[in-house]
Amino acid sequence: MKVPLLDLKAQYQTIKGECLKVTQDIYDSQHFILGPHVEKLEAEIAEYCSAKYAVGVSSGTDALLLSLMAANIGQGDRVITTPYTFFATAGAISRVGAIPVFVDIAPDTYNISPDGIAVTISKMSHSERNTLKAIIPVHLFGQCADMDAIIRIAKENSLVVIEDAAQAIGAEYKGRRAGSMGDFGCFSFFPSKNLGGFGDGGIVTTQSKDLYDRLMVLRVHGSRPKYYHHYIGGNFRLDAIQAAIVSVKLKYLDDWTRARQENAGKYRSLIDAAGLTSLVSCPVEKENRHIYNQFVFHVPEKRDELKVFLTANEIGCEVYYPVPLHLQACFSFLGHKSGDFPVSENAADHTLALPIYPELTEEQLGYVVSCMRQFFA
Ligand SMILES: *Cc1c(COP(=O)(O)O)cnc(C)c1O
Repeated sequence: MKVPLLDLKAQYQTIKGECLKVTQDIYDSQHFILGPHVEKLEAEIAEYCSAKYAVGVSSGTDALLLSLMAANIGQGDRVITTPYTFFATAGAISRVGAIPVFVDIAPDTYNISPDGIAVTISKMSHSERNTLKAIIPVHLFGQCADMDAIIRIAKENSLVVIEDAAQAIGAEYKGRRAGSMGDFGCFSFFPSKNLGGFGDGGIVTTQSKDLYDRLMVLRVHGSRPKYYHHYIGGNFRLDAIQAAIVSVKLKYLDDWTRARQENAGKYRSLIDAAGLTSLVSCPVEKENRHIYNQFVFHVPEKRDELKVFLTANEIGCEVYYPVPLHLQACFSFLGHKSGDFPVSENAADHTLALPIYPELTEEQLGYVVSCMRQFFA
């Protein structure tokens, strides 16, 4: 039996008619850049994320970049983030000329540790402390970071909070939606995210009218009106076609999220019934709405061998992420070495993501766990 890590074709079959109709309308209008479809999606996402404003952008990466630019973060500034995330989180910090300051993760959720943030700040020199401008917590795999503690530290130190919510649309922390708690919320419509377009796209949420204005202007080369440039921005626009597709999909997002959560529950009981609980640990649900962009479990022994075995049995699985960012070649100038962030390094060496997409069948879930049992027997 084949169980791909993600099967976008299965989902497309359920919405094909709607997608073809709305894209046809855009072809007929020949209006491809920004416009009414983007404005409609911005209003819908702002509402969905309990934010006052949303600005459609070209990708999740550009959502982070644009937020840093709107927060006036640049050359020589420092930004705290996690080394256990997709590259874009720290890449965006470097691209504005700022320095990523890594803080290790909590072992249960894989999200940045607020205690670690406090310790890191307390150890900074006076001059380092003066250049510290922001924290970018990542809501990894679909579960929110510990935002109360993070926001408290940010307030005490006058830091901007940029939520990297690329994997967490609709996730909640104590009843608050991802993207509604920090100064900015950054989302991605990359096709493999829970709400994906038919190409690249993203959106930034904010509660501040001032920040919203800056985002809107910076999105179009810092100009308002056209050809009068206040700042040096960029082309960070969202295509009308992507906005229209994402808008079609948004209606189904809560159903898909429920199906992902049910699949996670089924994995738990199947893994339990197969007697595997001493060999692997399922994700810890700490916050009240984990949206399971990924189902990542911990394998203390033989993670790599398990991955080879599952792959040979046509089960898609992946390591997110095999090399933590402090050990990436491009960040060698930061001077980190192996052992600096042991929890992140342990997660990189011992975790594996299993298929969790909404359209998985009972048979497929059963097959995945029976292959795991076979491997460990
Ligand atoms: C996907 C992702 C991004 C980048 O989004 P793109 O749309 O691919 O540019 C940023 N951060 C995290 C945590 C992501 O998972």
